[in-house]
Amino acid sequence: MQRTTVIDGAAHAAALRRRAAEVAADLRSKTGTAPGLATVLVGDHPASQVYVRAKGRACAGSQLSAFDIRLPGDISEASLAAEIEQLNRDDRIDGVLVQLPLPRHIEPHRILGAIDPARDVDGFHPVNVGRLWSGLPTMIPCTPQGCIRLLRTVHADLAGLGTVVIGRSNIVGKPLVALLLQADCTVTVVHSKTRDAGEICRGADIVIAAAGQPGMVNGNWIKPGATVLDVGINPMPNSEGRGRVVGDVDFHSVSQVAGAITPVPGGVGPMTIACLLLNTLLAACRRRGIADPAF
Ligand code: NDP
Repeated sequence: MQRTTVIDGAAHAAALRRRAAEVAADLRSKTGTAPGLATVLVGDHPASQVYVRAKGRACAGSQLSAFDIRLPGDISEASLAAEIEQLNRDDRIDGVLVQLPLPRHIEPHRILGAIDPARDVDGFHPVNVGRLWSGLPTMIPCTPQGCIRLLRTVHADLAGLGTVVIGRSNIVGKPLVALLLQADCTVTVVHSKTRDAGEICRGADIVIAAAGQPGMVNGNWIKPGATVLDVGINPMPNSEGRGRVVGDVDFHSVSQVAGAITPVPGGVGPMTIACLLLNTLLAACRRRGIADPAF
């Protein structure tokens, strides 16, 4: 049986948060103000409330100021854009994050496009997306950034590794592909119209699942010794409405075959929030004309 390394995303994220706290303290001593992150939550989507609270807690734990902006679910697109304009002009705020999904009457592209690209800590503004694909300095989206950081804990060199990304969303799959190409991986993308995803995955050195499909990747899909990252966060409510969260990877069968694997929870999820802190600090340094800190 293959001996699998379980990649401890929570521990790696904790180390990044400690480094973020050092950089934040340094910035505060140099400039007199703490770096600040504004999170904008529209409506009362339950999972979004959990995510926004976690981001606020992470800011507090790493000495960043958190600005928790809550807006009613029936706010108009124009009023939401005006709120963002105001945050763009607020000198206390280095990063602006609009929690997705937005209510259906609001066009996300128009709202993400209203964020000042210099404060776009999610990296979803079209300017930052273009910069990412052009290989220019930018804000690297948090979840894909977290994935690359975790891959580098088990692969000193990613060059030439055959990598399958399952999912092609704007927030995970596509930016991940851009980053993997920059790292010289040979990348294949699987999506909902792909034929025989299992066969494609079986040839890969690395499989990254970001489809939102509970347990879709099983041990038969994985080459012995391959690295498997599980981005999926799928709530499985029990009869009392609570319950656990599972990933897109069937941990039990895949861990019998893979060389390394991330668990859910405790894998990619904590890295996403840690990378958000790093991006806020990068934005704070760049706005103040300070060189990018090393993370
Ligand atoms: P989206 O729903 O936006 O995208 C899902 C992607 O997966 C789409 O490209 C879709 O293909 C593809 N897909 C869906 N079903 C299948 C299938 N059966 N076979 C192959 N491909 C499929 O999701 P997100 O990218 O936003 O999120 C993906 C998962 O990651 C979710 O579980 C989400 O909760 C989680 N997530 C976790 C984060 C973390 O911090 N760990 C952060 C963000 C998301 P198509 O384009 O053809 O529709």
